[in-house]
Amino acid sequence: MRESSGVSGSRIEERLRAVRERIERAACAAGRDPQSVRLLAVSKYQPAAAVRAAYAAGQRDFGENYVQELGAKQSQLAGLPELRFHFIGQLQRNKARRVAELASTVHSVDSCKLVEALGRAARARESPLGVFIQVNVSDEAQKGGCREAELERLLVAVGGQAALRLMGLMAVPQAGLSCGSLAAQFGRVAGLRQAHGGSQRLPELSMGMSQDLEAAIAAGSTCVRIGTAIFGARASVG
Ligand SMILES: *Cc1c(COP(=O)(O)O)cnc(C)c1O
Repeated sequence: MRESSGVSGSRIEERLRAVRERIERAACAAGRDPQSVRLLAVSKYQPAAAVRAAYAAGQRDFGENYVQELGAKQSQLAGLPELRFHFIGQLQRNKARRVAELASTVHSVDSCKLVEALGRAARARESPLGVFIQVNVSDEAQKGGCREAELERLLVAVGGQAALRLMGLMAVPQAGLSCGSLAAQFGRVAGLRQAHGGSQRLPELSMGMSQDLEAAIAAGSTCVRIGTAIFGARASVG
C-alpha cells in the first residue's frame, strides 16, 4: 500500500524484518543473545510517513541527525506511545536545550562543554537524558568524537551531571575499510570500554550501520544504527 508521500509501508516492514534477521544471525554467530542488541532505525532525510510505517511494524527507537528535522518529525508524530528519538548527529552547544526536549538519548557527545550544556538543559526533563560519548577511533580530522586521551575526562564530566545517564560509547568507523581493519576499529571501541570501567560503567556500545552491523555485533555492539537497509536510499547524502 502506498501513502501519498510515496512511502511504501509494506516495503519498510519487509526490510525491517530482514534487518532484524541479520541482527539475530550475527548475534547467534557471536554467541550472544539477540535480545542484547537494540535496533535504532535512522530516519534522517526520511518523511514522517516512513517513521510511521516502521512504527506500525513494531519499531520504537529512531535516530535523527539534525535538530530542526527532529523537531518537525516529533510534532508530526506527536502522541505515538513509546516512540523515542535518539540524536546521533554532530551537535552544537546552542542546540542542547532543544535536543534535551526532543530526544531520549544523545549518541554524539564529544566535549566537556557539550556535557555541561546538556546537563543543564536536561534538568527540565522528567527523566534523565541518556548520553553516549562518541569516540573518534579512526582519527579522521573532520569526524565527530573525542580523542581517546580525552575520554576519561568526559566520562567523569557526565558522571557529575545528575540529569544525565551515562549509557556507553559510540563510534563511526572510517568508510571503506577492509573487513579486517573494520573489525580492528570496532575492537578498539570495545577495548576502550574495558579500559574505562567495562559494562558496569558503560552498559552499551552504539556501533554498526547498514553495511557493517555484523562486524559491530561480533565486537560487542548493543545498539546498531540502521538507516538505508530499512528505509532505502536517502534523498541527500548524510
Ligand atoms: C546516517 C547514520 C547512520 C545510518 O547509516 P546507514 O548506512 O544508512 O545505515 C548511522 N549512524 C550515524 C551516526 C549516521 O549519521
